[in-house]
Amino acid sequence: MPLYVYQATGEGCEHCRDGFEALQGMSETPLERCPRCGAEVRKVPVSFSAGKGNVLSDGNLRSHGFQKLRRTDEGGYRREV
Ligand SMILES: [Zn+2]
Repeated sequence: MPLYVYQATGEGCEHCRDGFEALQGMSETPLERCPRCGAEVRKVPVSFSAGKGNVLSDGNLRSHGFQKLRRTDEGGYRREV
């Protein structure tokens, strides 16, 4: 599941001011507000560990197994691919 980082566009709270991470499925709607204080947030590009190259390309995401498991409402995981 891809990892996204969100950061407050304005003041924000201690949770979102410096950015926070959120795991979301590809089909989930991106967050627009901080879950704690409700401040507007924007998605920040995530840099994975250095030296891995362009890990965010579509092909790479697929080859690394992203999108394969999706968290269900019951808290388990369901294979999607
Ligand atoms: Zn906040």
